[in-house]
Amino acid sequence: MEIKDLLRDNIKALKPYSTARDEYQDQADIFLDANENAHGSATEKAYNRYPDPKQALLKERISQIKGIPPRHIFIGNGSDEAIDLLIRAFCEPKRDNIIVLPPTYGMYEVAAAINAVTVKKVPLAPDFQLDLDSIAEQVDAQTKIIFICSPNNPTGNAIDPRDVEVILNNFEGIVVVDEAYINFSRQSSMIRELTEYPNLVVLQTFSKAWGLAGLRVGMAFASLPVVEVLNKIKSPYNISQPSQEEALEALNSLEKVNNWIKDIVRERNKLANVLAQLDFVVKVFPSDANFLLVQVKDADKMYTYLLENGVIVRDRSKLEECKGCIRITIGTTQENQRLIDLLQQFNTL
Ligand SMILES: *Cc1c(COP(=O)(O)O)cnc(C)c1O
Repeated sequence: MEIKDLLRDNIKALKPYSTARDEYQDQADIFLDANENAHGSATEKAYNRYPDPKQALLKERISQIKGIPPRHIFIGNGSDEAIDLLIRAFCEPKRDNIIVLPPTYGMYEVAAAINAVTVKKVPLAPDFQLDLDSIAEQVDAQTKIIFICSPNNPTGNAIDPRDVEVILNNFEGIVVVDEAYINFSRQSSMIRELTEYPNLVVLQTFSKAWGLAGLRVGMAFASLPVVEVLNKIKSPYNISQPSQEEALEALNSLEKVNNWIKDIVRERNKLANVLAQLDFVVKVFPSDANFLLVQVKDADKMYTYLLENGVIVRDRSKLEECKGCIRITIGTTQENQRLIDLLQQFNTL
């Protein structure tokens, strides 16, 4: 399989926009090439210069931490940008399709719909693992991307990597493994598999474990042809200067982040045990993420009760494949304790 044969024809032919900074990157004394304001910024901090369109410093640092060469790294305005760009690069509107595996992250479907790309849905098996036979049945000549979320949102479980490899070995298209929650998982990242599979794209993000959802910085790791095409079609300055600076700084705080992860995992396991004791809880699903999916007897009633007490959780009970389920993000120890107190009161209502 050749990655470039999978691309849309217009994308193959596309000549990307060339920024002032693409055409001249070396040192100079005076920059009069990009129509910036040479006086400075209307803010205290100076942002009057366009940011590095290639995010070289940030990629260099990510490369050191992840053990992946910078040219295999794409940085997006959140991983949501990478999802959208992958669909735009590989899926011809009104002709091609993608496969998603519900219940899962909603953005794959929305990004496809925006691009007039058909979505084929193959529900996960009852244990929320892949239904390989049904996936194989749904693949046709127009199927360009299969999105696998592991650990999966909203179910919380990691997908068996052996099943992912079956798909990588058999599917003649792009396989996206969305690892937004990988830091909370016992499962290791599929990043190590990148050298073997040119069609594998691994998504990670600064939005969850790193605590930087507000910055909008996501990463895609992939083979050269995939990263090159994403870079070719992204908007030139997709990562703002402050986002590049803050993300770079965050990468010096590995120890702090690792301590948070340990804390969140410990709190998750504690909350799972408490929830399992409550009468109105039908099932607590095993989680490899920073949230728990909980099936309860009356999701509407529990959701409203928590809301009235100032706690917002995510009501997933209307999703076909997780009827009666509520998704609870793990908070601080105090927040979790408040939730536990409320739920124990609810139990006696
Ligand atoms: C939160 C989340 C993301 C993160 O998206 P960003 O755009 O990087 O904030 C990606 N995938 C899944 C499954 C998520 O739950």
